[in-house]
Amino acid sequence: MSDCLFCRIVAGEIPAQVVKRSPTALAFRDINPQAPTHVLVIPTRHLSAVRDARGEDGERLLGGLLAFAAELATELGLDGRGYRLVTNTGAEAGQSVDHLHLHLLGGRKMTWPPG
Ligand code: 5GP
Ligand code: ZN
Repeated sequence: MSDCLFCRIVAGEIPAQVVKRSPTALAFRDINPQAPTHVLVIPTRHLSAVRDARGEDGERLLGGLLAFAAELATELGLDGRGYRLVTNTGAEAGQSVDHLHLHLLGGRKMTWPPG
């Protein structure tokens, strides 16, 4: 989608600090990090949110995205201390970019419940 910020990052039209890529997923540093490690993990194909991943295609996409994020967490050395994977969906959850993304957060003690 040409008017989607994250699709434009996938297309290389907007610069980003890419940390990992595959044909179906891209990971890049969040511009406003909320933890020492804060990476966004997105599918290269546009879906607005996790609610749009339906059926077998959706299962494959979500499974692949989660496995990609877990591999990246290992590569970034986060397994020992732990990390958090979050996907905000819709207004009340605070989703501000309508392209499905996982936040990979690590490097500090997290609190629960989230704000
Ligand atoms: P959400 O609020 O939708 O869950 O997360 C969107 C995230 O995208 C936010 O954490 C925000 O800091 C990040 N973000 C917004 N614009 C840009 C950008 O242009 N580049 C990067 N790398 N991150 C962005
Ligand atoms: Zn998009």
